[in-house]
Amino acid sequence: MNSTAALHAIADDPIDRPRAMLAVADLLEALGYDATDEHLIDTPRRVVDALIDMTASEPFVMTTFANEDGYDEPVAVRGIRFTSLCEHHLLPFRGEVDVAYVPGTRLVGLSKLARVVERHARRLQVQERMTVQIADDLEDALAPRGVAVVVRAEHLCMSMRGVRTPDAVTRTTVFRGAFQSEPELRSALQPDGPGRLS
Ligand code: ZN
Repeated sequence: MNSTAALHAIADDPIDRPRAMLAVADLLEALGYDATDEHLIDTPRRVVDALIDMTASEPFVMTTFANEDGYDEPVAVRGIRFTSLCEHHLLPFRGEVDVAYVPGTRLVGLSKLARVVERHARRLQVQERMTVQIADDLEDALAPRGVAVVVRAEHLCMSMRGVRTPDAVTRTTVFRGAFQSEPELRSALQPDGPGRLS
């Protein structure tokens, strides 16, 4: 296994890079291109390396520490940028995630919140599932009183093909625990303006 494959923490099977390159060359030919053309000859390698890179995230440990001072208001990190790949079209979707939790007995380093986003963004995804998975991770690691995840993203499969809606922003949300029972806590995430990413 090469080092890139080792980074692929969530892979179901090891990456077969030569096979993937052949498949991309096949795809080019099937689309009517000459994959041996000098301008395309390196394209399969580039495509595969890009796909591997876009679907690999570095493993990390979600270290938590005791909430010794009894902090009991929301902890929110807004505007965590991410890029992911839509599993329906293999086209990117990208945007921002706001993550918040109301601590119980444990806190987590703020940078880990961005790591959690990356862990679930850098693989084939759909936005709805990614939103839930980020919330699940935080619940498992922290057993917080509440967790909130808001994702706003532009999908190239919407803006470049089909209905071609270039500026449409898809917003998905998960509100659990205190964020469910006390909606006023959601102001920690501040509602976004119409059609804007931030
Ligand atoms: Zn798509």
